[in-house]
Amino acid sequence: MKKLICLGIEGTAHTFGAAVVTDKKEILSDVRDMYTTEHGGIIPIEAAKHHRKLADGIVDKALKEANLSINEIDIISFSRAPGLAPCLLATRDKVVELAKKHNKKIIGVNHAVSHLTSGSLFTESKDPLYIYVSGANTQIIALIDKRFRILGETLDVGLGNALDKFGRRINLGFPSGPKIEELAKKGKYIELPYTIKGMDLAFSGIVTDAINKFKKGSKKEDLCYSIQETFFAMLTEVVERALAFTEKKQALLIGGVAANKRLIEMLNIMCKERNVEFYVVPLKYSGDQAVMISWQGILEYNAKRKDNLNVDIDDSERTDEVEVIW
Ligand code: AMP
Ligand code: MG
Repeated sequence: MKKLICLGIEGTAHTFGAAVVTDKKEILSDVRDMYTTEHGGIIPIEAAKHHRKLADGIVDKALKEANLSINEIDIISFSRAPGLAPCLLATRDKVVELAKKHNKKIIGVNHAVSHLTSGSLFTESKDPLYIYVSGANTQIIALIDKRFRILGETLDVGLGNALDKFGRRINLGFPSGPKIEELAKKGKYIELPYTIKGMDLAFSGIVTDAINKFKKGSKKEDLCYSIQETFFAMLTEVVERALAFTEKKQALLIGGVAANKRLIEMLNIMCKERNVEFYVVPLKYSGDQAVMISWQGILEYNAKRKDNLNVDIDDSERTDEVEVIW
């Protein structure tokens, strides 16, 4: 049977990317460019300008790397939600323009859902409990009755941002996660608050307490070790309860914090004790990229879904609002 070839386009926030993927799980290209700032955070309008300016070049490069012309592309998928509205619009406009010009079918997909389903492209996992831990997100998710249900999540900031916030106050620079991991290797345990509410987690109070202890003279190394142990133990506890509740036999770690060896070790030990297979999405693909958008496009197209050229963006569509038809 002929292969289905999808050009995927990502542009929900800082990164604009294009990738070509086939339904045989071949990644033919993966091109990305990230909008950065000298000072401060992301300015949505500026990021959107970045996307509009670079889009054509990035799409051309993705086709070239895949050794294909646009005529050989079967469908174009793109991230239509959630994200920064100006960036979503820039991406949608580019995709609609391409589709009109070359007479292509398009599929708009949810970016967060694509992070989850990318596990079936990058790992052998099938129906895992998802542990999604990035800068801004901390969520424990399971597929139950055709929806990705959020079983537990952060009540304040994401785990990665909490580490960055602490790191900034002890002068580690951004991103602090990797530096905290290094310093923690030489640290000893100091007690910090442990805040789980039901299945949800809170990190901000712990960051405040650790900063106060630093001001009173506690060593950086000890605080780095202790904040990691505390955050990761909290996460592991909630994940373990979610595994007991859902009876899932696999777990999948996704997001930038998945780079942390200690976190992987703790989750691994717990999963082994419960006879649960543990997977980690490779670091190269744990951040924003278009490969996962292509893959999600293929899954939805094969499940007989497509969009028309009036497809709208949605800056806040949650993971559990998407019906899982694939
Ligand atoms: P993302 O939002 O998925 O792009 O991930 C970025 C976040 O991951 C930032 O908050 C980083 O501090 C964090 N991060 C990256 N590497 C590590 C690490 N080795 N340990 C802990 N956090 C990390
Ligand atoms: Mg993302």
